[in-house]
Amino acid sequence: HLADTEPPTIFDKIIDKTIPANIIYEDDEALAFRDIGPQAPVHFLVIPKKRSGLTRLSKATEEHKALLGHLLYVAQLVAMKENLGEGFRVCINDGPNGCQSVYHLHLHVMGGRQLTWPPG
Ligand code: 5GP
Repeated sequence: HLADTEPPTIFDKIIDKTIPANIIYEDDEALAFRDIGPQAPVHFLVIPKKRSGLTRLSKATEEHKALLGHLLYVAQLVAMKENLGEGFRVCINDGPNGCQSVYHLHLHVMGGRQLTWPPG
């Protein structure tokens, strides 16, 4: 049941605060912190504090639907706190073709400038 048997990632150390991160939001289920390599003036990540088997979005099951909704809700909540009312982008990279590098589900939220579309 929502078991997590995959190896831990660097995000576990951010969650348990054994490595520093610029945390801008935290609740029981989710954490948001600034990306160490920002691709826009504002670039933060929203992650579940318990990975719950979500190494990547494509591992999601019916059981994850409430958590996924919560993460998306937090993304806009923090975007508004970060003054991104003119617009922003939420993106999830899944797997090798999606250029995922950390296998703990995370939403990228980017804004603070005019973004371009489509991405590369
Ligand atoms: P992915 O490529 O998996 O979608 O995104 C992983 C993101 O995590 C990258 O944008 C990368 O800059 C960020 N990242 C990786 N390690 C750290 C870290 O130790 N601290 C922070 N704040 N961000 C990290």
